[in-house]
Amino acid sequence: MRKIKFTNNQMEEIVRLYSSENKRPHCIGKKFNISGHTVIRVLREEGVKIKKVNPGTLGFKFSKESIDNVRKSKLGKPSWNKGVPLSDTHRKNVSLSLKGRVITKETRNKISVSKTGVPNKKLLGRKHTEEHRMNSKLSKIKLYEKNPEIKKKISETLKETYKNNPSIIEAQKKKHKNTLKEHPEILINMGKKHSDTLKNNPQIIERARKKHRQFYIDHPEAKEKIKEARAKQVLPKKDTSIELKIQNFLSKLHIEFYTHKYISEITSGYQCDIFIPSQEGVSQKTIIECDGCYWHGCPVCKLNKNPLIEHRIEIDKKRTKELIEKGFRVVRFWEHDIKVMELNNFKEELIVQNKLRGFRR
Ligand SMILES: [Zn+2]
Repeated sequence: MRKIKFTNNQMEEIVRLYSSENKRPHCIGKKFNISGHTVIRVLREEGVKIKKVNPGTLGFKFSKESIDNVRKSKLGKPSWNKGVPLSDTHRKNVSLSLKGRVITKETRNKISVSKTGVPNKKLLGRKHTEEHRMNSKLSKIKLYEKNPEIKKKISETLKETYKNNPSIIEAQKKKHKNTLKEHPEILINMGKKHSDTLKNNPQIIERARKKHRQFYIDHPEAKEKIKEARAKQVLPKKDTSIELKIQNFLSKLHIEFYTHKYISEITSGYQCDIFIPSQEGVSQKTIIECDGCYWHGCPVCKLNKNPLIEHRIEIDKKRTKELIEKGFRVVRFWEHDIKVMELNNFKEELIVQNKLRGFRR
């Protein structure tokens, strides 16, 4: 340390300025061309008590002008420690001092308030590369698969924040509306199904199925709810021309019937085409299905060449079997039969079927 020798006069002047005139150390230092720290050291050596708060600075405010000047002088200049690497010990000390530090909720809120609406200058206008995005996505999926509790925790905290700040949701909705306004092309893709590449990826499909299954395992009440809702639902199902023809026949035969009644007795309930409750002349509750040749895979017309039609045929068979087990009589007519059907034919069919085991095609 540089030692500076002062004359007695100078010493007295420093002490006088400090204790009598309440000058600040750095102001005194300016006169003698030394720093404020040196002034304090000199004062200490002289045995002068250093005031904790210098009354000179108490309530002192820089003028707006001087603040502006300081700001201007620093504008555009890098900070003094830019690019200066911290020494290893310094780095360690910093990390040690931060270890175990718990940021209180209050501080967290303060930080978040101060940062809301302020764009991150470092990231502004920059975009991650596609590769980086994929990698981060994959790493997240892996992390969640390893520790599913993390995902739960995140979702819970998010739910809580949304609950406490409904304004966030509103802001998001607003943002979404704006993006739709700015990019109307998004609307074109809305409601579209997954692309073929996604469809053909067995991993993605399996994952989605697993999720779906797990949902019903976790929420057994959901299935019941859906079932109930479906029973009450009135679908705007239009009667097809073949259905209308059969309905007409029934009216002429004075048989009471319901259209599109929801049948809840079987495991996967559905809306049948025509339901005839048991009544005079009809000893058993009957369901009439008018099957379109295309949609139900008629083996005579062979209109639908899609291999998926086998699935549809299986569903029809399974449903028929279940309905019969539950005590219904099931009558299925093909579209091509109905088209050429006369009232007498229909009556015959209905009565013949009544005498047989309950189901005939
Ligand atoms: Zn047919």
